[in-house]
Order: sequence, then structure tokens, then C-alpha cells
Amino acid sequence: MSTRTAEAEHAATRESDMVRFEAKVDETGPTAPLLDTRCWLWRGATDARGYPKFWLRGNSVTAQRAVYVIAGVDLAPGQQVVNLCCNRLCVRRSHLAVGTLSDAHALRCRGRHRLGAGELRLIQMVVGGGEYSAEQVAEALGVSRGLVKEIVRAGSGFRTPHLPRFGA
Ligand SMILES: [Zn+2]
Repeated sequence: MSTRTAEAEHAATRESDMVRFEAKVDETGPTAPLLDTRCWLWRGATDARGYPKFWLRGNSVTAQRAVYVIAGVDLAPGQQVVNLCCNRLCVRRSHLAVGTLSDAHALRCRGRHRLGAGELRLIQMVVGGGEYSAEQVAEALGVSRGLVKEIVRAGSGFRTPHLPRFGA
């Protein structure tokens, strides 16, 4: 098989993954208080704990992880996709962030969690405004620097040009 054909097949697979995915997304969810945009709710299958799942290239993955994989973003094994909007059914790209496992615990929206909507807004203000660096805030809160940067980006309504259909 020529390289060209392999590339075309890869693109076709990606396109069909995207079409299958989008067929299960309801874009009329509630407006997330922190992000001021609507949640895009997963209407497909969920696991026993209510997390969205999607069958992707022979594996069952969370729908949130599928958003990144379909976009061609490589996630390391330890990296977690977390919902900034606290809605576990939401798969809107701008409501998601990549963090570590401990970030996922810090952002856990049920029960006791260290970062609520207020803290997220505060992070956006102090880091986005240049008052403190992402490193300083990450250390103070016990989360990764990467997560702090993702939160700041979410607050500024970050765009993902390569992923227009997954929502800005
Ligand atoms: Zn959301």
C-alpha cells in the first residue's frame, strides 16, 4: 500500500470516528457557570459510574478522551482528561482540560474537592492577569503546572482551530 493510500485511509477513519461521535452529542446542555458556554452532553453509552464511553479503534475509552484522540492529540498513559465544568457527561472541548491523576482528584466535583468554580476563576484572574505565574499557583494548590495553564486558557475562551466541530 502506498503512503498516500495509507494517509487517505487514516483520514477516512478519523472522519468516520468524528461522525459517529458527533451523532451522540447534544449541544443544548445547560450553561456552565464558570465557562459561560453551554455544555455538550453525551447521549451515547455510559459506564457503571455514569461516565460516557466511546468505542474507538478497538478500545473502549471515555468520550472525553476520545475528543483528544480523534483530534490527533497524544495523551501519555498517566494523563487524565478532566471536566472543568463539573458535568461528567460534557464532551465540549473547551470544557475539558488535560491533567494528572491528582489533578483529576483535585477537580473532582462530587464530595470534597480542592478546586471549585471560585478557585478556577481566581486562577484565571491571577495567572491570566500576570499577578502570579502558573508555577507559583500550581505549587500553592498542589496541582500540575499544565493544569493551571489549561484552566487559564479555558477562561480566555481558548480556540482549537484543528477541532472546529468539537466546540470552541
Ligand atoms: Zn461542560
